[in-house]
Amino acid sequence: MSDTRKAAIDWHSRAQGLSIDGRPVIGGRRVDTAAGLQFDCISPLNGQSLGAVSRGQAADIDSAVASARAAFEDGRWAGRSPAQRKRVLQNFSEKILQAKEELALLETLDMGKPIQYSLSVDVPSTARCIAWYAEAIDKVYDEIAPTGRNALALIQREAMGVIGAIVPWNYPMIMAAWKLGPALAAGNSVVLKPSEKSPLTALRLAELALEAGLPDGVFNVVPGYGHEAGEALALHMDVDAIGFTGSTRVGRKMLEYAGRSNLKRVYNELGGKSAFLVFPDFEDLKRAAQTVAGSMFFNQGESCNAPSRVLVHESIADEFVALLTAEAPRYQAGDPLDPATVMGALVDAGQLGTVMGYIESGREEGARMAAGGGQSRADSGGYFVQPTVFDGVTPQMKIAREEIFGPVMSVLRFKDEAEAVRIANDSPYGLQASVWSQHIDRAHRVARALRAGTVHVNQYDEDDMTVPFGGYKQSGNGRDKSLHAFDKYTELKTTWLRINNS
Ligand code: NAD
Repeated sequence: MSDTRKAAIDWHSRAQGLSIDGRPVIGGRRVDTAAGLQFDCISPLNGQSLGAVSRGQAADIDSAVASARAAFEDGRWAGRSPAQRKRVLQNFSEKILQAKEELALLETLDMGKPIQYSLSVDVPSTARCIAWYAEAIDKVYDEIAPTGRNALALIQREAMGVIGAIVPWNYPMIMAAWKLGPALAAGNSVVLKPSEKSPLTALRLAELALEAGLPDGVFNVVPGYGHEAGEALALHMDVDAIGFTGSTRVGRKMLEYAGRSNLKRVYNELGGKSAFLVFPDFEDLKRAAQTVAGSMFFNQGESCNAPSRVLVHESIADEFVALLTAEAPRYQAGDPLDPATVMGALVDAGQLGTVMGYIESGREEGARMAAGGGQSRADSGGYFVQPTVFDGVTPQMKIAREEIFGPVMSVLRFKDEAEAVRIANDSPYGLQASVWSQHIDRAHRVARALRAGTVHVNQYDEDDMTVPFGGYKQSGNGRDKSLHAFDKYTELKTTWLRINNS
């Protein structure tokens, strides 16, 4: 579609025309929940209801898991050849792209991100993820072990069975796709529990998958609260693995649920407090400042890998903070349905309260407000915060230690390389980090010393399906994306065959 036509879309009138179906998709169709409970799906753009969504309970999870199990056991999906599964998942990816505008609108209305990014990032990344695993699945080979001549040992990957996927609200479709792509391509059945704050696109994805030819029961979606539907899924005795993305607090519960039930595999992708280290030998400070502001304020700061701790050498800190102060206003929040908007609304009133609480705590603990610090667009009835920069933050302050998950950046100063690495690693999290230095030895040395799943050098946010995404320490285990994600949704089977050489 041309840019001219994109600009012509009246997203507000399209939003008026939407009709929301919030019922689960189980066994290949929309169904009513057993108890008939619902909740209001509130849009963060204006605090108004978008419609009623089913509040799934344990009985609905039972029914979805039973349907997923039946589909797995009779081989309607797992029994197909990789090439056949590939074709269906490629169709699914195509359907996602064909429904691009509808999905983008639902994502923006439901969780507040700017429509331009729902269209240019969330929908295409979701489609690409599904297509990437589709294309990979008939190209991965199993192994034959180098044993002696009297035996043959085959090492094969097998689909696990029923995968429970529990995802957050910050990138609802992309997070779902990171689980669905490898899990479905490998032949599993899936029960997806989207966040209660952003359930709408997950339900549409399930319908599109069915239209693409995915057999009934292979991909089920049950909306509902975490402590109800989520807990029931994670405790279920017939779920083989949980792919969880969310907070570290709830990730801990996932491990408990597994311990209390069937010891299902748990793959946690959790929070972050990523450090961005700027050394004085880096020549283009403006580019570094633009990069950190762009990455920090993207998605309203609601990104697990947001570079929320900016560590700057004391000799360049004043200059760097001045550059950040100049950058921040470019990310002023606007109407998410306006294609020119670059920062949208926080997901709900609770998240607004959390973020404003952290801003207050930064002030109270003595950090200096260099930019922002207030709410904006209050007249809209939605949940908007100014892009905020704190200077003079010390490693002990709450805003330097806890994940804020909003557009709030903390600048900390360091004296030398050893102190920079010490501060960066002094965190329970270890998702990502970035080193900015012209000095090749320093860049390598620091990158090696940083305890993070991904380290960027002289850039941030470089991203591709071919590389794994995940964290060290309390940022989780397992990896989404790349061929490594197949490890999470497959079992390794060894088969020994005796060979009679006589
Ligand atoms: P959350 O942990 O509150 O919720 C995540 C999901 O878990 C939701 O679907 C929720 O309903 C469900 N849930 C909540 N309580 C539950 C319970 N007791 N039992 C079962 N399920 C339960 O997280 P959130 O607020 O939705 O998302 C933000 C968090 O996600 C941040 O910490 C962010 O860093 C993290 N995140 C991590 C990654 C990554 O790849 N590492 C990516 C995106 C987001």
